[in-house]
Amino acid sequence: MGMSDVDVLVIGGGVSGLATAWWLSQAGLTVEVWEREQQPGGRIGSHRKSGYLLERSASLVMNSRPDVGRFMAETGLAASKAPAPSRPARYTVHEGRLEAVPASFGAMFTSPTWSLGGRLRLALEPFIPAGGNARETVSEFVTRRLGREMLERAIDPYIAGPLASDPDAANAYSVLPRLTALERRYGSLGVGMIVHKLLRRRSASVAEAFSFQGGMSTMIKTLANAPGVHFRPGRAATELRPEGKGWRIEGVSRAGEHSLRARQLVLSAPATAAAALTAPLDADLSRHLVEIEYAPVSVVHMGFARDAVDHPLNGNGFLASRRAGYAVTGSLWMSSVFSDRAPDGKVLLTNYLGGSRCPEVLGWDDERSAAEVLATLSPLLGIKGEPEMVHIDRHDRALPLYHGAYFARMQAIDERLQRLPGLHLEANYRGGVSVRDRIACGYAAARRIVAALGCKQGSGCGATEAAEVFSL
Ligand SMILES: Cc1cc2nc3c(=O)[nH]c(=O)nc-3n(C[C@H](O)[C@H](O)[C@H](O)COP(=O)(O)OP(=O)(O)OC[C@H]3O[C@@H](n4cnc5c(N)ncnc54)[C@H](O)[C@@H]3O)c2cc1C
Repeated sequence: MGMSDVDVLVIGGGVSGLATAWWLSQAGLTVEVWEREQQPGGRIGSHRKSGYLLERSASLVMNSRPDVGRFMAETGLAASKAPAPSRPARYTVHEGRLEAVPASFGAMFTSPTWSLGGRLRLALEPFIPAGGNARETVSEFVTRRLGREMLERAIDPYIAGPLASDPDAANAYSVLPRLTALERRYGSLGVGMIVHKLLRRRSASVAEAFSFQGGMSTMIKTLANAPGVHFRPGRAATELRPEGKGWRIEGVSRAGEHSLRARQLVLSAPATAAAALTAPLDADLSRHLVEIEYAPVSVVHMGFARDAVDHPLNGNGFLASRRAGYAVTGSLWMSSVFSDRAPDGKVLLTNYLGGSRCPEVLGWDDERSAAEVLATLSPLLGIKGEPEMVHIDRHDRALPLYHGAYFARMQAIDERLQRLPGLHLEANYRGGVSVRDRIACGYAAARRIVAALGCKQGSGCGATEAAEVFSL
């Protein structure tokens, strides 16, 4: 077998693919990224309209992981970080009004709007025997440990908003990994949290939320332009074939057809695209990928004159539980979180519509979507009149849902992958949807690839350096 053209080809130039490629380039491997669109970033993209800076999807990175901190430092992105306030007020909707979220479990006990029964139920948590299993839903887990009020008022809005999921269907182990682990380890969330609090004093990791100067696109551009990441825009992979000890990949672009040999292959396209590419290789794998459900989300950006909104907007926004009965799952007050998002004297509210709670938004046109958001916001925030700027970013398949048989499906996918050595699936339907999780999973994938390549074959491997970077 002759030399491969590259050590690794990454298919898909969203944050999953770009972060994986960046980590691989740090290990001295030759990496190419093929992206179907002309722009990098996939879902993510910042754009300007009438003096406002808008985000198509992700607005914030929430991080407490040291590997993600290292990524920010070593990519140079730390220098363009735009930090969000460290302890912002957050709101939920309760009986038609905004209510500040209690900052801690303790604060919930004293909150006058929580029912006495609900508070007593929380207090009982340490005495509830451990139970549950890998198939348990979020609703089952939270009701069992903390009661219904906690589910409806505190957990449901987080599952429905940022994850676009349904707590009655979402898998508890995969979307509440830390809480469920506390029960497994300590038998109780309360006890586990106290132990963790004691331990955290000694560890350095602090939770922080941030974006970048110029928005999330700054991160994407930095990665796509990084010296070791050979980014090929406008190039779609069309066929994958095992060849020798590696892979042969065919693709198309406006310039014509492309063919490349890679020792390892990372598939960072969404599940449907991954299913189409893997169908000729393994029908079972392809079927598992096709079955991953996605939910639609419309992001409705609205700009107002500051004095058209009565609410002080003193916080990062609100999330609405399903009891509120809205199609709006949440609203992020971007101009309160970051200083440069709206022109002087204006405010920018970024609102999320749909998710699994209201997939009907798929069929709503811009006018209907904007009217729905305005009707929800106006009484909550005391808005007078119409927004001076409206822009809608639609995502028909916004986020993969970690619903139902998620664990069984992921196990089945892992099993099928063992028969396809050198093929890695690295996208947001696996291991977490957040940007933080995508960067962390990219790191783990890069480690596996470096280990798989070893330093035996080929000169382009750079495996000595790789072994140092990844402390293998
Ligand atoms: C509305 C919304 C708000 C969000 N807010 C946040 C947030 O505030 N914070 C946060 O951390 N996360 C947030 N997320 C989640 C996060 O943005 C996504 O999970 C993440 O961006 C997905 O990245 P990805 O690379 O896995 O997939 P994608 O971004 O979908 O990238 C996949 C890429 O593969 C390409 N592709 C497909 N087929 C091929 C092919 N055959 N050949 C070549 N290329 C191909 C596609 O064109 C695409 O660019 C949000 C998501 C949404 C939808």
